[in-house]
Amino acid sequence: MKFNREIIPAGEAQSRVMQHVRPGAAELVRLEDAWGRRLAEDLTAAHPVPHFRRSGMDGFALRSVETAGASVETPVRLKVAATIPCGEVMREPLLPGQAARIMTGAAVPDEADAVIMFEQTDSVVEDGVAYVSVHKEMRPGANVSEVGLEMRQGELLLEAGRIIGAGESALLAMFGHSQVRVAVRPRVAVFATGTELLRVDEPLVPGRIRNSNGYMLAAQVREAGAVPFIMEAIPDDVELAKKAILRAMDEYDAVVTTGGVSVGDYDILYDLTQQWDGELLFNKVAMRPGSPTTAGVRNGKLLFALSGNPGACFVGFELFVRPALYAMQGVRQPLPAEHQAVLSVDYAKGDKFTKYLRGVRTVAEDGTVYVAPVGIDASSITVSIRDSDCLIVIPFGENGVQKGETVRVIPLGAWGGTGA
Ligand code: AMP
Ligand code: MG
Repeated sequence: MKFNREIIPAGEAQSRVMQHVRPGAAELVRLEDAWGRRLAEDLTAAHPVPHFRRSGMDGFALRSVETAGASVETPVRLKVAATIPCGEVMREPLLPGQAARIMTGAAVPDEADAVIMFEQTDSVVEDGVAYVSVHKEMRPGANVSEVGLEMRQGELLLEAGRIIGAGESALLAMFGHSQVRVAVRPRVAVFATGTELLRVDEPLVPGRIRNSNGYMLAAQVREAGAVPFIMEAIPDDVELAKKAILRAMDEYDAVVTTGGVSVGDYDILYDLTQQWDGELLFNKVAMRPGSPTTAGVRNGKLLFALSGNPGACFVGFELFVRPALYAMQGVRQPLPAEHQAVLSVDYAKGDKFTKYLRGVRTVAEDGTVYVAPVGIDASSITVSIRDSDCLIVIPFGENGVQKGETVRVIPLGAWGGTGA
């Protein structure tokens, strides 16, 4: 019966979901289109960086031993044998007593072991021959970037599951990856359920509300790197729901629904999971908001049936759907990050379930991170989702948490601090 459900902790519910995640396929995209995608394979450095001995200065490449004792009063004079611009190498060997004019980033001749900057030299021309007066004793290796200084050949460059941003794009280009193997973005069908729901473009009428959860979920799906498909909302009719949802489970990689999971007369998602050919993973989690959050699997595909209350719907996505979508894209640590903060107000309400409060963090001058709940602490409230930057985890127990105690927080937002 609806009232007689097995209650499991959120962590157990997460692991039941994770056991059924199938890693998705990979595809090749052009490097310029790879931003924001997840790398599908480990990449190692195919060559050292730099791959030639590189000058770190505009100046003169020379043998450091030949500058012994050089100073402004007792300069050492070397013959300028060549000029080496960026992109070129010196063809002749650098002979003893010679220096080569060299630009930043150019290849240092094999015989040279230091570069002196222009500002520490004077250039003189005598009988049509160019010389440089060196004013400073140079130590071996000065201003020369040795082969492999930045990176050794074979070093791990980027690991599978990593999101491609600016630094990753630079490395991919450095190593010649004009095409990048990335995880295919999972395609996720999003259904709202409830006869009270209006489309976004419909005028309000008494007793009915617009489908806001559908768009919230679609945004969360995108944040998780997947592609949302907002389906037509389903009225409270179990046969209609069954048809639409099961078809979507055949066509999409995962299905997320909102509404109809509690114990009311019209809770069609509960009914559906009692009379389908799939496996119910759970339909009662020891958490608030969202205790009737439900998940199932059918033909290897996951169905997430989240509560209709906006706060509960949002939290249910963060705890169960986001990690699953990350794992489908090869993320190695898909579960929400474990950050800590100091509670800046008393939260004295005890509860038999773990609470996930919408919260906002502030950083004090001494660097301590504080957190406080925002707005009204009810699952029917939407505006606090806008105002929060994290979920505060209040462990179950009689007394709640006192001001000054450290609590766990789950960061929210585009990449949420998770999915590393
Ligand atoms: P339910 O889980 O279907 O019992 O819904 C719980 C509450 O959430 C009800 O007040 C619904 O009107 C509201 N609700 C359900 N679905 C949505 C939705 N898609 N957008 C906004 N509110 C919703
Ligand atoms: Mg409903």
